[in-house]
Amino acid sequence: MLQSVDVGERSLEAYRGVAPDAILAELRRVAAELRGMRVLHLNATPYGGGVSELLRSLVPLLNDLGLVADWKVIHGNNAFFEVTKTMHNGLQGAARELSEEEQTIYLVNAEQNAAQLEEEYDFVFIHDPQPAALPTLHGKGEAQWIWRCHIDTSEPNPQVWEVLRPFLAAYDAAIFTMASFVPPDLPVARVEIIPPAIDPLSPKNFPLSKRLAAQVLDWIGISLDRPLITQVARFDPWKDPLGLIAAYRLVREAVPNLQLALVGSMALDDPEGWEVYQKIKLESKGDPSIHLFTNLTGVGNIEVNAFQRLSDVVVQKSIREGFGLVVSEALWKGTPVVAGRVGGIPLQMSDGVGGILVEGVEECAQAILRLLEDPAGADELAQRGKERVWKQFLLPRLLLNQLSLMRELAAGRPSVRRGSWEPRRDPVCGMMVAEASPPSSATFGDRSYFFCSEACRARFLAEPEHYLGESGHGH
Ligand code: UDP
Repeated sequence: MLQSVDVGERSLEAYRGVAPDAILAELRRVAAELRGMRVLHLNATPYGGGVSELLRSLVPLLNDLGLVADWKVIHGNNAFFEVTKTMHNGLQGAARELSEEEQTIYLVNAEQNAAQLEEEYDFVFIHDPQPAALPTLHGKGEAQWIWRCHIDTSEPNPQVWEVLRPFLAAYDAAIFTMASFVPPDLPVARVEIIPPAIDPLSPKNFPLSKRLAAQVLDWIGISLDRPLITQVARFDPWKDPLGLIAAYRLVREAVPNLQLALVGSMALDDPEGWEVYQKIKLESKGDPSIHLFTNLTGVGNIEVNAFQRLSDVVVQKSIREGFGLVVSEALWKGTPVVAGRVGGIPLQMSDGVGGILVEGVEECAQAILRLLEDPAGADELAQRGKERVWKQFLLPRLLLNQLSLMRELAAGRPSVRRGSWEPRRDPVCGMMVAEASPPSSATFGDRSYFFCSEACRARFLAEPEHYLGESGHGH
Protein backbone atom coordinates (compact mmCIF):
# COMPACT_ATOMS: atom_id res chain seq x y z
CA MET A 1 0.00 0.00 0.00
CA LEU A 2 1.18 3.52 -0.66
CA GLN A 3 1.85 5.61 2.43
CA SER A 4 -1.04 7.87 3.38
CA VAL A 5 -0.37 11.24 4.92
CA ASP A 6 -2.67 12.00 7.83
CA VAL A 7 -3.89 15.56 7.49
CA GLY A 8 -6.57 15.77 10.16
CA GLU A 9 -9.67 17.90 9.76
CA ARG A 10 -10.20 21.47 8.67
CA SER A 11 -13.26 23.58 8.00
CA LEU A 12 -13.91 25.97 5.14
CA GLU A 13 -16.05 28.01 7.53
CA ALA A 14 -12.86 29.21 9.19
CA TYR A 15 -11.98 31.14 6.01
CA ARG A 16 -15.02 33.38 6.30
CA GLY A 17 -13.82 36.96 6.64
CA VAL A 18 -10.31 35.93 5.61
CA ALA A 19 -10.73 35.01 1.92
CA PRO A 20 -13.15 36.77 -0.49
CA ASP A 21 -16.79 35.87 0.32
CA ALA A 22 -17.81 35.43 -3.30
CA ILE A 23 -15.20 32.74 -3.81
CA LEU A 24 -16.22 30.86 -0.67
CA ALA A 25 -19.87 30.89 -1.72
CA GLU A 26 -19.11 29.58 -5.19
CA LEU A 27 -16.78 26.99 -3.81
CA ARG A 28 -19.59 25.49 -1.75
CA ARG A 29 -21.89 25.48 -4.76
CA VAL A 30 -19.45 23.74 -7.07
CA ALA A 31 -18.45 21.27 -4.34
CA ALA A 32 -22.07 20.32 -3.81
CA GLU A 33 -22.12 18.98 -7.36
CA LEU A 34 -19.12 16.78 -6.62
CA ARG A 35 -20.24 15.43 -3.25
CA GLY A 36 -19.00 11.90 -2.59
CA MET A 37 -16.41 11.91 -5.38
CA ARG A 38 -13.21 10.12 -4.41
CA VAL A 39 -10.06 12.11 -4.99
CA LEU A 40 -6.43 11.15 -4.58
CA HIS A 41 -3.52 13.57 -4.48
CA LEU A 42 -0.24 11.77 -5.00
CA ASN A 43 3.22 13.28 -4.72
CA ALA A 44 6.74 12.40 -3.67
CA THR A 45 7.15 13.83 -0.19
CA PRO A 46 5.02 14.50 2.88
CA TYR A 47 7.16 17.46 3.95
CA GLY A 48 9.49 20.10 2.50
CA GLY A 49 8.74 22.27 -0.51
CA GLY A 50 5.65 23.88 -1.90
CA VAL A 51 3.66 20.83 -2.99
CA SER A 52 3.45 19.23 0.44
CA GLU A 53 2.70 22.64 1.86
CA LEU A 54 -0.32 22.90 -0.43
CA LEU A 55 -1.64 19.39 0.02
CA ARG A 56 -1.56 19.62 3.79
CA SER A 57 -4.26 22.31 3.57
CA LEU A 58 -6.07 21.32 0.43
CA VAL A 59 -6.86 17.69 1.18
CA PRO A 60 -8.69 18.22 4.52
CA LEU A 61 -10.73 21.03 2.93
CA LEU A 62 -11.82 18.72 0.11
CA ASN A 63 -13.12 16.35 2.77
CA ASP A 64 -14.87 19.18 4.56
CA LEU A 65 -16.58 20.06 1.28
CA GLY A 66 -18.08 16.58 1.05
CA LEU A 67 -15.61 14.86 -1.26
CA VAL A 68 -13.62 11.85 -0.11
CA ALA A 69 -10.00 12.85 -0.45
CA ASP A 70 -6.70 11.11 0.31
CA TRP A 71 -3.12 12.26 0.14
CA LYS A 72 -0.54 9.59 -0.51
CA VAL A 73 3.16 9.64 -1.26
CA ILE A 74 5.17 7.28 -3.43
CA HIS A 75 8.03 5.24 -2.05
CA GLY A 76 11.53 5.85 -3.29
CA ASN A 77 15.09 5.30 -2.21
CA ASN A 78 17.97 7.72 -2.51
CA ALA A 79 18.95 6.51 -5.97
CA PHE A 80 15.42 7.14 -7.23
CA PHE A 81 15.27 10.65 -5.79
CA GLU A 82 18.70 11.40 -7.32
CA VAL A 83 17.18 10.44 -10.68
CA THR A 84 14.02 12.46 -10.18
CA LYS A 85 16.01 15.51 -9.09
CA THR A 86 18.04 15.21 -12.30
CA MET A 87 14.76 14.91 -14.15
CA HIS A 88 13.33 17.94 -12.33
CA ASN A 89 16.44 19.96 -13.19
CA GLY A 90 16.36 18.76 -16.81
CA LEU A 91 12.71 19.73 -17.14
CA GLN A 92 13.66 23.21 -15.93
CA GLY A 93 16.30 23.31 -18.66
CA ALA A 94 19.52 21.93 -17.11
CA ALA A 95 21.90 20.32 -19.61
CA ARG A 96 22.42 17.01 -17.80
CA GLU A 97 20.66 14.09 -19.51
CA LEU A 98 19.25 10.89 -18.02
CA SER A 99 21.38 7.79 -18.59
CA GLU A 100 19.85 4.40 -19.54
CA GLU A 101 20.47 3.22 -16.01
CA GLU A 102 18.71 6.22 -14.53
CA GLN A 103 15.73 5.70 -16.80
CA THR A 104 15.53 2.11 -15.60
CA ILE A 105 15.59 3.24 -11.97
CA TYR A 106 12.70 5.61 -12.74
CA LEU A 107 10.69 2.90 -14.44
CA VAL A 108 11.28 0.20 -11.84
CA ASN A 109 10.23 2.59 -9.09
CA ALA A 110 7.09 3.54 -11.01
CA GLU A 111 6.20 -0.15 -11.47
CA GLN A 112 6.61 -0.80 -7.75
CA ASN A 113 4.49 2.18 -6.80
CA ALA A 114 1.85 1.41 -9.41
CA ALA A 115 1.46 -2.07 -7.94
CA GLN A 116 0.83 -0.54 -4.53
CA LEU A 117 -1.96 1.77 -5.59
CA GLU A 118 -4.95 -0.29 -4.51
CA GLU A 119 -7.93 1.96 -3.94
CA GLU A 120 -10.34 3.17 -6.61
CA TYR A 121 -10.80 6.90 -7.23
CA ASP A 122 -12.83 9.19 -9.45
CA PHE A 123 -9.97 11.68 -9.80
CA VAL A 124 -6.25 11.22 -9.31
CA PHE A 125 -4.02 14.27 -9.20
CA ILE A 126 -0.39 13.36 -9.79
CA HIS A 127 2.01 16.07 -8.72
CA ASP A 128 5.21 16.71 -10.64
CA PRO A 129 7.39 14.22 -12.54
CA GLN A 130 8.32 11.79 -9.76
CA PRO A 131 5.06 9.76 -9.86
CA ALA A 132 4.09 10.75 -13.42
CA ALA A 133 4.39 7.25 -14.93
CA LEU A 134 1.75 5.77 -12.65
CA PRO A 135 -1.36 5.85 -14.86
CA THR A 136 0.57 4.15 -17.66
CA LEU A 137 1.85 1.39 -15.42
CA HIS A 138 -1.14 1.01 -13.13
CA GLY A 139 -3.84 1.37 -15.77
CA LYS A 140 -6.32 4.21 -15.63
CA GLY A 141 -9.30 2.27 -14.29
CA GLU A 142 -12.40 4.38 -13.78
CA ALA A 143 -10.48 7.44 -12.68
CA GLN A 144 -9.74 10.64 -14.51
CA TRP A 145 -6.04 11.40 -14.21
CA ILE A 146 -4.70 14.91 -13.93
CA TRP A 147 -1.02 15.78 -14.05
CA ARG A 148 -0.28 18.81 -11.89
CA CYS A 149 3.05 20.24 -12.98
CA HIS A 150 4.49 22.72 -10.49
CA ILE A 151 7.72 23.49 -12.31
CA ASP A 152 8.75 25.63 -15.23
CA THR A 153 8.79 23.22 -18.19
CA SER A 154 8.81 25.90 -20.85
CA GLU A 155 12.25 24.95 -22.19
CA PRO A 156 12.97 21.44 -21.04
CA ASN A 157 16.13 19.58 -21.86
CA PRO A 158 14.89 17.64 -24.95
CA GLN A 159 16.30 14.29 -23.88
CA VAL A 160 14.80 14.45 -20.39
CA TRP A 161 11.49 15.65 -21.83
CA GLU A 162 11.44 12.68 -24.24
CA VAL A 163 11.79 10.32 -21.28
CA LEU A 164 8.81 11.81 -19.48
CA ARG A 165 6.60 12.78 -22.40
CA PRO A 166 5.24 9.34 -23.39
CA PHE A 167 3.96 8.81 -19.84
CA LEU A 168 1.95 12.01 -19.99
CA ALA A 169 -0.16 10.74 -22.87
CA ALA A 170 -2.21 8.75 -20.35
CA TYR A 171 -3.60 11.86 -18.67
CA ASP A 172 -7.05 13.38 -19.14
CA ALA A 173 -5.85 16.84 -18.19
CA ALA A 174 -2.75 18.72 -17.16
CA ILE A 175 -2.44 21.78 -14.97
CA PHE A 176 0.38 24.31 -15.22
CA THR A 177 1.05 27.45 -13.22
CA MET A 178 1.52 29.62 -16.30
CA ALA A 179 0.66 29.28 -19.98
CA SER A 180 4.31 29.84 -20.87
CA PHE A 181 5.28 26.69 -18.92
CA VAL A 182 3.34 24.38 -21.23
CA PRO A 183 5.77 22.50 -23.49
CA PRO A 184 4.73 22.78 -27.16
CA ASP A 185 4.33 19.04 -27.78
CA LEU A 186 2.52 18.12 -24.58
CA PRO A 187 0.46 15.00 -25.38
CA VAL A 188 -2.50 16.00 -23.18
CA ALA A 189 -5.64 17.35 -24.80
CA ARG A 190 -6.89 19.44 -21.93
CA VAL A 191 -4.62 21.99 -20.30
CA GLU A 192 -5.54 24.34 -17.48
CA ILE A 193 -3.58 27.26 -16.11
CA ILE A 194 -4.01 27.38 -12.35
CA PRO A 195 -1.46 29.04 -10.10
CA PRO A 196 -1.01 27.70 -6.58
CA ALA A 197 -2.02 29.57 -3.45
CA ILE A 198 -1.18 29.89 0.23
CA ASP A 199 -3.24 28.89 3.23
CA PRO A 200 -3.82 32.03 5.30
CA LEU A 201 -4.79 29.93 8.31
CA SER A 202 -1.84 27.57 8.47
CA PRO A 203 0.73 28.09 11.24
CA LYS A 204 3.07 29.46 8.62
CA ASN A 205 0.67 32.24 7.67
CA PHE A 206 -1.77 32.79 10.50
CA PRO A 207 -1.67 36.08 12.37
CA LEU A 208 1.18 36.20 14.84
CA SER A 209 1.57 39.17 17.15
CA LYS A 210 4.65 41.26 16.66
CA ARG A 211 5.66 40.56 20.22
CA LEU A 212 5.45 36.80 19.85
CA ALA A 213 7.20 36.86 16.49
CA ALA A 214 9.98 38.95 18.02
CA GLN A 215 10.33 36.48 20.88
CA VAL A 216 10.65 33.61 18.41
CA LEU A 217 13.40 35.33 16.44
CA ASP A 218 15.17 36.55 19.53
CA TRP A 219 15.28 33.00 20.84
CA ILE A 220 17.09 31.75 17.75
CA GLY A 221 19.64 34.53 17.85
CA ILE A 222 18.31 37.24 15.52
CA SER A 223 18.73 40.80 16.72
CA LEU A 224 15.72 42.92 15.87
CA ASP A 225 17.66 46.11 16.57
CA ARG A 226 19.48 45.59 13.30
CA PRO A 227 18.09 45.45 9.75
CA LEU A 228 17.23 41.96 8.58
CA ILE A 229 16.76 40.42 5.16
CA THR A 230 15.61 36.83 4.76
CA GLN A 231 15.28 34.19 2.09
CA VAL A 232 13.14 31.15 2.87
CA ALA A 233 13.78 28.43 0.31
CA ARG A 234 14.88 24.85 -0.17
CA PHE A 235 18.64 24.68 -0.53
CA ASP A 236 18.58 24.45 -4.27
CA PRO A 237 20.86 26.04 -6.91
CA TRP A 238 17.81 27.46 -8.73
CA LYS A 239 17.03 29.54 -5.63
CA ASP A 240 20.50 31.06 -6.01
CA PRO A 241 21.55 31.31 -2.34
CA LEU A 242 25.12 32.16 -3.33
CA GLY A 243 23.88 35.01 -5.53
CA LEU A 244 21.90 36.23 -2.56
CA ILE A 245 25.00 36.21 -0.32
CA ALA A 246 26.83 38.22 -2.99
CA ALA A 247 23.98 40.75 -3.09
CA TYR A 248 23.93 40.94 0.72
CA ARG A 249 27.65 41.74 0.71
CA LEU A 250 27.05 44.63 -1.69
CA VAL A 251 24.24 46.00 0.49
CA ARG A 252 26.43 45.72 3.58
CA GLU A 253 28.80 48.26 2.11
CA ALA A 254 26.04 50.81 2.68
CA VAL A 255 24.32 49.13 5.65
CA PRO A 256 27.12 47.63 7.75
CA ASN A 257 24.89 46.21 10.48
CA LEU A 258 22.69 44.26 8.05
CA GLN A 259 21.82 40.64 8.89
CA LEU A 260 20.98 37.93 6.39
CA ALA A 261 18.92 34.89 7.36
CA LEU A 262 18.86 31.91 5.01
CA VAL A 263 16.10 29.57 6.08
CA GLY A 264 16.08 26.36 4.11
CA SER A 265 14.23 23.12 4.38
CA MET A 266 15.48 19.70 3.49
CA ALA A 267 12.88 17.80 1.49
CA LEU A 268 12.80 14.02 1.40
CA ASP A 269 12.86 14.01 -2.40
CA ASP A 270 15.71 16.50 -2.74
CA PRO A 271 19.13 14.96 -2.11
CA GLU A 272 20.86 18.03 -3.59
CA GLY A 273 19.94 19.99 -0.44
CA TRP A 274 22.94 18.97 1.63
CA GLU A 275 25.43 19.81 -1.09
CA VAL A 276 23.98 23.28 -1.45
CA TYR A 277 23.87 23.66 2.33
CA GLN A 278 27.61 22.88 2.54
CA LYS A 279 28.36 25.43 -0.19
CA ILE A 280 26.42 28.12 1.67
CA LYS A 281 28.20 27.26 4.91
CA LEU A 282 31.56 27.63 3.22
CA GLU A 283 30.58 30.88 1.55
CA SER A 284 29.25 32.42 4.78
CA LYS A 285 32.11 31.22 6.98
CA GLY A 286 33.47 33.90 9.28
CA ASP A 287 30.46 36.22 8.90
CA PRO A 288 28.41 36.14 12.11
CA SER A 289 25.72 38.28 10.48
CA ILE A 290 24.73 35.48 8.11
CA HIS A 291 22.38 33.08 9.89
CA LEU A 292 21.71 29.69 8.40
CA PHE A 293 18.73 27.66 9.60
CA THR A 294 17.05 24.43 8.55
CA ASN A 295 13.86 22.60 9.41
CA LEU A 296 16.07 19.82 10.75
CA THR A 297 17.33 22.09 13.50
CA GLY A 298 13.90 23.12 14.62
CA VAL A 299 13.17 26.10 12.39
CA GLY A 300 9.64 25.24 11.39
CA ASN A 301 6.45 26.97 10.36
CA ILE A 302 6.17 29.40 13.27
CA GLU A 303 9.76 30.50 12.83
CA VAL A 304 9.23 30.98 9.08
CA ASN A 305 6.09 32.97 9.91
CA ALA A 306 8.12 35.19 12.26
CA PHE A 307 10.91 35.69 9.72
CA GLN A 308 8.50 36.60 6.94
CA ARG A 309 6.68 38.97 9.28
CA LEU A 310 9.58 40.81 10.86
CA SER A 311 12.21 40.96 8.13
CA ASP A 312 12.68 44.40 6.65
CA VAL A 313 12.80 42.80 3.22
CA VAL A 314 12.14 39.23 2.13
CA VAL A 315 14.26 38.17 -0.81
CA GLN A 316 13.66 35.38 -3.30
CA LYS A 317 16.69 35.50 -5.54
CA SER A 318 15.54 32.61 -7.76
CA ILE A 319 16.89 32.18 -11.27
CA ARG A 320 14.23 29.58 -12.15
CA GLU A 321 11.01 29.19 -10.26
CA GLY A 322 7.74 27.33 -10.62
CA PHE A 323 5.63 29.70 -8.58
CA GLY A 324 7.46 30.60 -5.40
CA LEU A 325 4.87 30.34 -2.64
CA VAL A 326 7.25 32.18 -0.35
CA VAL A 327 6.56 35.41 -2.23
CA SER A 328 2.83 35.32 -1.47
CA GLU A 329 3.60 34.19 2.07
CA ALA A 330 5.73 37.28 2.70
CA LEU A 331 3.33 39.67 0.98
CA TRP A 332 0.40 38.30 2.94
CA LYS A 333 2.27 39.37 6.08
CA GLY A 334 2.75 42.86 4.70
CA THR A 335 6.47 42.48 4.09
CA PRO A 336 8.02 43.88 0.90
CA VAL A 337 9.79 41.46 -1.41
CA VAL A 338 12.75 41.64 -3.77
CA ALA A 339 12.62 38.68 -6.13
CA GLY A 340 13.97 37.30 -9.39
CA ARG A 341 11.87 38.12 -12.43
CA VAL A 342 11.33 34.44 -13.20
CA GLY A 343 8.57 31.86 -13.44
CA GLY A 344 5.45 32.56 -11.42
CA ILE A 345 6.98 35.31 -9.31
CA PRO A 346 5.82 38.20 -11.56
CA LEU A 347 2.25 36.88 -11.25
CA GLN A 348 2.39 37.65 -7.55
CA MET A 349 4.25 40.93 -7.65
CA SER A 350 5.41 43.40 -10.20
CA ASP A 351 7.11 46.72 -9.95
CA GLY A 352 4.61 48.79 -8.05
CA VAL A 353 2.91 45.86 -6.36
CA GLY A 354 4.60 43.90 -3.61
CA GLY A 355 8.16 44.94 -4.16
CA ILE A 356 10.84 44.95 -6.83
CA LEU A 357 11.61 42.35 -9.49
CA VAL A 358 15.28 41.94 -10.32
CA GLU A 359 17.73 40.23 -12.60
CA GLY A 360 21.23 39.54 -11.33
CA VAL A 361 23.17 40.24 -8.16
CA GLU A 362 23.67 43.98 -8.58
CA GLU A 363 20.05 44.75 -9.33
CA CYS A 364 19.09 42.63 -6.36
CA ALA A 365 21.43 44.58 -4.06
CA GLN A 366 20.18 47.93 -5.35
CA ALA A 367 16.56 46.92 -4.84
CA ILE A 368 17.18 45.71 -1.29
CA LEU A 369 18.95 48.94 -0.49
CA ARG A 370 16.15 51.02 -1.99
CA LEU A 371 13.57 49.33 0.20
CA LEU A 372 15.73 49.52 3.33
CA GLU A 373 16.25 53.24 2.80
CA ASP A 374 12.57 53.98 2.20
CA PRO A 375 10.51 52.00 4.72
CA ALA A 376 7.33 54.01 4.04
CA GLY A 377 7.54 53.40 0.29
CA ALA A 378 8.38 49.74 0.94
CA ASP A 379 5.35 49.41 3.17
CA GLU A 380 3.07 50.85 0.50
CA LEU A 381 4.37 48.33 -2.02
CA ALA A 382 3.85 45.53 0.48
CA GLN A 383 0.25 46.57 1.21
CA ARG A 384 -0.58 46.53 -2.50
CA GLY A 385 1.02 43.08 -2.67
CA LYS A 386 -1.10 41.88 0.22
CA GLU A 387 -4.23 43.03 -1.58
CA ARG A 388 -3.23 41.03 -4.65
CA VAL A 389 -2.62 37.92 -2.57
CA TRP A 390 -6.05 38.33 -0.97
CA LYS A 391 -7.72 38.49 -4.36
CA GLN A 392 -5.79 35.80 -6.14
CA PHE A 393 -3.47 33.65 -4.14
CA LEU A 394 -5.41 32.32 -1.18
CA LEU A 395 -6.33 28.67 -0.97
CA PRO A 396 -10.11 28.90 -1.60
CA ARG A 397 -9.44 30.27 -5.11
CA LEU A 398 -7.18 27.33 -5.88
CA LEU A 399 -9.75 24.86 -4.59
CA LEU A 400 -12.44 26.50 -6.66
CA ASN A 401 -10.34 26.22 -9.83
CA GLN A 402 -9.58 22.57 -9.16
CA LEU A 403 -13.17 21.65 -8.38
CA SER A 404 -14.38 23.45 -11.50
CA LEU A 405 -12.00 21.40 -13.58
CA MET A 406 -13.18 18.20 -11.89
CA ARG A 407 -16.79 19.14 -12.50
CA GLU A 408 -16.12 19.71 -16.16
CA LEU A 409 -14.19 16.47 -16.49
CA ALA A 410 -17.00 14.63 -14.70
CA ALA A 411 -19.53 16.13 -17.06
CA GLY A 412 -17.34 15.05 -19.97
CA ARG A 413 -17.80 18.40 -21.56
CA PRO A 414 -15.18 21.02 -22.13
CA SER A 415 -17.08 23.91 -20.64
CA VAL A 416 -20.56 23.87 -19.21
CA ARG A 417 -22.16 27.06 -18.04
CA ARG A 418 -24.28 26.38 -15.01
CA GLY A 419 -25.39 28.93 -12.47
CA SER A 420 -23.72 32.22 -11.92
CA TRP A 421 -20.13 31.14 -11.58
CA GLU A 422 -17.91 29.78 -14.27
CA PRO A 423 -14.15 29.67 -14.42
CA ARG A 424 -13.21 32.13 -17.14
CA ARG A 425 -9.89 32.30 -18.84
CA ASP A 426 -7.83 35.44 -19.01
CA PRO A 427 -7.56 35.89 -22.82
CA VAL A 428 -3.98 37.13 -22.45
CA CYS A 429 -2.25 34.58 -20.20
CA GLY A 430 -4.86 31.79 -20.23
CA MET A 431 -5.16 31.63 -16.44
CA MET A 432 -8.40 30.49 -14.81
CA VAL A 433 -9.97 33.53 -13.21
CA ALA A 434 -12.90 33.43 -10.81
CA GLU A 435 -15.70 35.45 -12.35
CA ALA A 436 -17.18 35.83 -8.88
CA SER A 437 -14.34 38.10 -7.87
CA PRO A 438 -12.14 38.84 -10.87
CA PRO A 439 -8.96 40.77 -10.11
CA SER A 440 -9.68 42.87 -13.21
CA SER A 441 -12.20 43.01 -16.04
CA ALA A 442 -13.06 44.88 -19.21
CA THR A 443 -15.90 45.01 -21.69
CA PHE A 444 -15.13 44.78 -25.37
CA GLY A 445 -17.82 44.57 -28.03
CA ASP A 446 -20.77 43.02 -26.26
CA ARG A 447 -18.75 40.77 -23.97
CA SER A 448 -17.01 41.00 -20.63
CA TYR A 449 -13.51 39.66 -20.22
CA PHE A 450 -11.74 38.78 -17.01
CA PHE A 451 -8.06 39.18 -16.27
CA CYS A 452 -5.65 37.92 -13.66
CA SER A 453 -4.10 41.36 -13.27
CA GLU A 454 -4.09 44.94 -14.45
CA ALA A 455 -1.04 44.11 -16.58
CA CYS A 456 -2.95 41.50 -18.61
CA ARG A 457 -5.93 43.85 -18.92
CA ALA A 458 -3.71 46.62 -20.27
CA ARG A 459 -2.11 44.27 -22.78
CA PHE A 460 -5.56 43.15 -23.92
CA LEU A 461 -6.91 46.66 -24.30
CA ALA A 462 -3.86 47.70 -26.32
CA GLU A 463 -4.61 45.11 -29.01
CA PRO A 464 -7.80 43.15 -28.28
CA GLU A 465 -8.04 41.64 -31.77
CA HIS A 466 -4.69 39.99 -31.27
CA TYR A 467 -5.92 38.15 -28.19
CA LEU A 468 -9.37 37.36 -29.47
CA GLY A 469 -8.20 35.92 -32.76
CA GLU A 470 -10.23 36.08 -35.93
CA SER A 471 -13.34 34.63 -34.33
CA GLY A 472 -13.39 37.43 -31.81
CA HIS A 473 -14.12 34.91 -29.07
CA GLY A 474 -10.78 34.43 -27.40
CA HIS A 475 -8.33 31.56 -27.54
N1 UDP B 1 9.72 26.29 3.45
C1 UDP B 1 9.72 26.06 4.83
N2 UDP B 1 10.89 26.05 5.48
C2 UDP B 1 12.06 26.27 4.87
C3 UDP B 1 12.06 26.53 3.47
C4 UDP B 1 10.85 26.51 2.79
O1 UDP B 1 8.68 25.88 5.44
O2 UDP B 1 13.09 26.24 5.53
C5 UDP B 1 8.42 26.35 2.77
C6 UDP B 1 8.08 27.74 2.30
O3 UDP B 1 7.55 28.51 3.37
C7 UDP B 1 7.08 27.46 1.20
C8 UDP B 1 7.60 26.13 0.62
O4 UDP B 1 8.43 25.55 1.62
O5 UDP B 1 5.80 27.24 1.75
C9 UDP B 1 8.41 26.38 -0.62
O6 UDP B 1 7.56 26.59 -1.71
P1 UDP B 1 8.02 27.38 -2.99
O7 UDP B 1 6.87 27.36 -3.94
O8 UDP B 1 8.52 28.73 -2.60
O9 UDP B 1 9.26 26.59 -3.57
P2 UDP B 1 9.51 25.04 -3.92
O10 UDP B 1 10.26 24.49 -2.74
O11 UDP B 1 8.20 24.39 -4.12
O12 UDP B 1 10.38 25.10 -5.14
